[in-house]
Amino acid sequence: MALLEVKNISKQYKNTKALSDVNFSVKEGEFVSIIGPSGAGKSTLLRCINRMVEANYGEIIFDGSHVLNLNKKDLRKLRAKIGMIFQHYNLVYRLSVVENTLHGRLGYKSTIEGIMGRYTEEEKKQAFDILEKLGLSEEVFKRCDELSGGQKQRVGIARALIQNPKMILCDEPIASLDPSSSKVIMDHLKNVSKEMGITCLVNLHQVDVAIKYSDRIIGVNSGKVVFDGSPEELNNEK
Ligand code: ADP
Ligand code: ADP
Repeated sequence: MALLEVKNISKQYKNTKALSDVNFSVKEGEFVSIIGPSGAGKSTLLRCINRMVEANYGEIIFDGSHVLNLNKKDLRKLRAKIGMIFQHYNLVYRLSVVENTLHGRLGYKSTIEGIMGRYTEEEKKQAFDILEKLGLSEEVFKRCDELSGGQKQRVGIARALIQNPKMILCDEPIASLDPSSSKVIMDHLKNVSKEMGITCLVNLHQVDVAIKYSDRIIGVNSGKVVFDGSPEELNNEK
């Protein structure tokens, strides 16, 4: 069954048509990459799904709810089920790794000092467990501005996972990383999908990475879906 259905989505910024009549659906647990050149509309598309960007037209159904019709309260509930990972990590750099992780519980808008005091021992233990799985046990109490790019992105993954999300949206998660850190991040995302059963929708501009990691690939160009199929089918088209 589809966890996510995107139907006839269009988005117009002032003078730019970023998305035109985009349709696709994603099954529960699937690892789907969205590929396309810079400016294709990938980021806009991901952001329409959790309404960081408002689509002008169309319908999005996630886990049974009509996303574009939700009121503020229900939108908050929806966002709790959808984690998000960014190219530039969007961490609070003066806070520690575990504080940034726990931040995922509160949503992106809140900035708090002394965040640790607000959490139960159980929540802190969950954060430590997630960080251990991501290979960050040694970094737990370091400030995020002391970390390498690859480590920062692993904190981004931890912050998404602590939400217990049904789906994670990843907007160019490896575009700022070197090849070896990129591999570590993609391997972790693959585990998130295959071992934890969390659906991943990942924007990438590297076709080879998409082919290696995805169950399915959606190609976008000039705001339109130009390919939707398996990595094998994409290889045959090339
Ligand atoms: P991608 O993620 O594939 O690089 P984007 O979704 O960022 O593509 O951008 C798609 C198009 O929409 C581009 O032409 C971009 O310049 C434009 N665009 C993106 N965000 C905005 C915005 N906030 N205001 C106006 N135009 C935008
Ligand atoms: P960008 O290239 O978009 O600035 P970054 O991931 O480098 O992406 O930064 C995201 C935000 O965090 C930016 O506002 C940036 O100024 C800030 N930032 C980045 N690195 C640090 C740091 N070491 N200490 C404090 N703030 C930082």
